Amino acid sequence: MKDNLTTCDRCGSDACYIQEVNHEIKNHMCYGCGFLTNSLMKEGEQFYEEQIEILPELYKDLMDEDKNTGLVWMPNTINLPNKGMVFADGKNSLNWAWAAVKAIPMPEDEKEKFKLKGKDYKFKMDMENMKHYPEGDFMEALEYIGIFGK
Ligand SMILES: [Zn+2]
Repeated sequence: MKDNLTTCDRCGSDACYIQEVNHEIKNHMCYGCGFLTNSLMKEGEQFYEEQIEILPELYKDLMDEDKNTGLVWMPNTINLPNKGMVFADGKNSLNWAWAAVKAIPMPEDEKEKFKLKGKDYKFKMDMENMKHYPEGDFMEALEYIGIFGK
């Protein structure tokens, strides 16, 4: 992964991870600012228009077009069922933070309830241990949920 790290067009950190999906599509995901974009995140692209439809208001508010590339950056959402979640949380682009929520082992009684519905969950998001991190501390938020551990 390290080989694909480059300078982020958005925040200037050197922690932007680039992944080539195919010749036309490249993902940019920055661990510095926590934002991401890809070749289809452009005004007029169907993918972009679809994102606009489904994204929460805050995400739309935080979307930011790179004047040079035309790519629109938006906050990342991390959702790892057995580790936790990191997402942008707040009222608007001036008043928000990264929210980090750890996954905890699913309590036995709740596990049973889900089993009745045919689902088998080993972990659940424990909203009570949610922590907030300022925009520049995306990495700390990832660390909190233990994303870099085994
Ligand atoms: Zn960045």
